[in-house]
Amino acid sequence: NSRQRLLVVANRLPVSATRIGDTWSLELSAGGLVSALLGVRQFETRWIGWAGVNVADEVGQVALKNALEEKRCVPVFLDEETVHQYYNGYCNNVLWPLFHYLGLPQEDRLSATRSLEDQFEAYKRANSKFADVVQSIYKEGDVIWCHDYHLMFLPKCLKDYDINMKVGWFLHTPFPSSEIYRMLPSRSELLKAVLCADLIGFHTYDYARHFVSACTRILGLEGTRSGVEDHPLGKLTRVAAFPIGIDPERFSEALSRPDVKGYIQELQQKFSGRKVMLGVDRLDTIKGIPQKLLAFEKFLDENVEWRDKVLLVQIAVPTRTDVHDYQRLTSQVHEIVGRINGRFGTLTTVPIHHLDRSLDFHRLCALYAVTDVAIVTSLRDGMNLVSYEFVACQNMKKGVLILSELAGAAQSLGAGAILVNPWNISDVAVAIKDALDMPETDREECHRHNFEHVTTHTAQVWADTFVSELNDTIVEAELRT
Ligand code: UDP
Repeated sequence: NSRQRLLVVANRLPVSATRIGDTWSLELSAGGLVSALLGVRQFETRWIGWAGVNVADEVGQVALKNALEEKRCVPVFLDEETVHQYYNGYCNNVLWPLFHYLGLPQEDRLSATRSLEDQFEAYKRANSKFADVVQSIYKEGDVIWCHDYHLMFLPKCLKDYDINMKVGWFLHTPFPSSEIYRMLPSRSELLKAVLCADLIGFHTYDYARHFVSACTRILGLEGTRSGVEDHPLGKLTRVAAFPIGIDPERFSEALSRPDVKGYIQELQQKFSGRKVMLGVDRLDTIKGIPQKLLAFEKFLDENVEWRDKVLLVQIAVPTRTDVHDYQRLTSQVHEIVGRINGRFGTLTTVPIHHLDRSLDFHRLCALYAVTDVAIVTSLRDGMNLVSYEFVACQNMKKGVLILSELAGAAQSLGAGAILVNPWNISDVAVAIKDALDMPETDREECHRHNFEHVTTHTAQVWADTFVSELNDTIVEAELRT
């Protein structure tokens, strides 16, 4: 087999593993990254990551490793304490909030989850475990693609092992302004570690610019149009924007299935006589769900004629349910939904259908298809694929997208959407009215623009572009020396 090998390293493997005695049952998860890389056919792809389960015994580890081999996956085993400090601690309690402009955890929360330094040490330990597994299967010529904020230390670990490894790193969240990033105690060490990569990718040009500024201001390196330069070493790290996309065919195929057509009819009957607005989000603070609900309330308050003609379906997928802040957000959202339904409901109808759960893929597609107005009010969001998926399912209705200007997607779908600042509740309320009143010709125009983008900037194109750019970067570097 002469195809170049692509080793994809991400915190989680694209499978969920369940143990039944000494055997493992595996289910492939259909995330964006998986479908993106299924499309990259010129490479022979391997996945390296944590299987999401704690396997303490060696018998179990060997069995899982063997089972995963069939799916071209190689597991990284992390003990429970490391998972706690690295994953729950440094990744989710430090980097995630910081990258979404929520700052660093306060003292009281720090002491509860041990100190920041301990968590950072665990983070580095975990990253080097990932590196060990990469090394164990690495062959000369392989391309290694590291993913996300969980693995910012990995490029350094890999290059320490072999400077000739071809290493790319991609961030799936925003990279914040350097004024936010500079708060992080281990800011320099972390930046230097990622800079060991040959190519660094972000969803948007702004995130790439923020990263380069952080490197110039914090490390004193030179930022150029193509990346970050480290003069004494003569090393250039390429930095660029690679906006991710979806696999639009997966959605159009779903919509042509008889069962999905059945769901669509069912929903149309249930919602007949009313315009349907839709929100689909993980129940996370960054999604701005309370802000969305407050704007909808203000809209109903001010537009009496719309009260019995519109409803909002909000799918709020539970996430990190063991974390206090997330539990508080859940109650806050429930309180607002309850108040709005109490204020504007009738004996037989309520304005908000709120669901605290996920939907299966086919029902989600049906819901996207019957929607008149999709509303995304993220306070910060790396990209936001829900907006793309909505567009992919709207060839029939040509509905309107209200999109937060603070989501990465605003940079690609901005021209075909009504952009809002989610913090400006009055503005969002006006946007809801404008969206519901938008004339058909304008809706068609917006949809055409969005649909064109979603079907050309696919996940496959994204993965292809990143990996070929990584190969080119290395060829150019060789030419320079
Ligand atoms: N999603 C899902 N089931 C649901 C609702 C949403 O699988 O019931 C998926 C949705 O199709 C999308 C993803 O969750 O692919 C959310 O991605 P997005 O980029 O919008 O936000 P993230 O959750 O990654 O922050």
